[in-house]
Amino acid sequence: MRLKMLHFARVAVGTLLLPLSAFGWGQTGHRVVGQIAENHLHAEAAAAVQGILGDESLAMCANWMDHIKSNRAYNHMNPWHYCTIPDGLTYETCDHPEEGDVIGTINQLIVEIQTKTFLIAEDEAMAVKMLAHLVGDLHQPLHVGNGTDKGGNDRKIKWFGESSNLHRVWDSDLIDHQQLSFTEYVAWVDHATAEEVSEWQRSSVVDWAQESQAIRMGIYPPAEATSLGYSYNYDHIATLNKRLLQGGVRLAGILNELYAKPTKKKK
Ligand SMILES: [Zn+2]
Repeated sequence: MRLKMLHFARVAVGTLLLPLSAFGWGQTGHRVVGQIAENHLHAEAAAAVQGILGDESLAMCANWMDHIKSNRAYNHMNPWHYCTIPDGLTYETCDHPEEGDVIGTINQLIVEIQTKTFLIAEDEAMAVKMLAHLVGDLHQPLHVGNGTDKGGNDRKIKWFGESSNLHRVWDSDLIDHQQLSFTEYVAWVDHATAEEVSEWQRSSVVDWAQESQAIRMGIYPPAEATSLGYSYNYDHIATLNKRLLQGGVRLAGILNELYAKPTKKKK
């Protein structure tokens, strides 16, 4: 009991320090990542994932970690949607919060699925749903915050005249602006070459975070800008789409590795 209370106390402090308050890619963005991953699963992995998720699809379960934010029992997961790497530092050289972050959580989930020992996820289905969400989040450049403005949440800005902030512009405003369903969106962006797929899947989880960090540097509008619209969309939509695509391809890479490893022939 004592341990549990201490845990809650720590989580409460962590919540006060929470650098991000928004949700990660909005519903459409997460579904796009999930659907792209499904498109890149090998047959064996697709069958295994379907066996685990039942009637759910990767696309439709990819928002689960946002949906459960309304349940306080899952509050300890809030810091797992993002990480902080200040400008000029790398993930290796910066401090890592005790309550965990998106990189540590993705790696932990992979180990839990490999060993079939579930600690932070309650079972394999939850582990897959969490992976589907968090690999997406890590590809949203502002989910790798610089530690000064809650991942762009503090940068208030208008989007086509409506109140928003830079984080939300990247989570959902830019995506919603395209006025596409998630399946239409996938049809638009899911065009990686075989070389891109293998190159993207070879890189590490920390690499993905550091790509987001590098992109982050180039997406802050000038300090005097108060409103964003067509030209910001024109300048950045290709980058955003590439991040959705890479997120989906890499989620597939993790699941292919976990569930479609060629079985060794018996001697
Ligand atoms: Zn999230």
